[in-house]
Amino acid sequence: MAKPMEEYTWRDLTVGNVVDEPGNSISYKTGDWKSQQPVFDESKCIRCAVCWNFCPDMAIYQKKDGYFSADLEYCKGCGICAQQCPSGCISMQEEVS
Ligand code: SF4
Ligand code: SF4
Repeated sequence: MAKPMEEYTWRDLTVGNVVDEPGNSISYKTGDWKSQQPVFDESKCIRCAVCWNFCPDMAIYQKKDGYFSADLEYCKGCGICAQQCPSGCISMQEEVS
């Protein structure tokens, strides 16, 4: 049973605005926020890694064949990769579930 309000001290407060578990963002799969997803046309890709550099969620990764793809479990669908790609090979398309 909760104690009366007057018995609480600052020590009972939940810590806020502090990252008390570094690296925990991997646990939060933010990909379900998006309504659009990046689709890569590898025939135009020059493997420059600009998309990888600009993705604010570090959702883009390089595949074994050297081309890039997005981890849709973390991609938020912001479209920055598509805007920055110098070859125009990324298009944002409606998410398919
Ligand atoms: S920015 Fe475009 S051209 Fe460069 S690696 Fe990414 S998809 Fe390929
Ligand atoms: S749409 Fe946004 S979050 Fe998703 S891969 Fe591109 S830059 Fe990253």
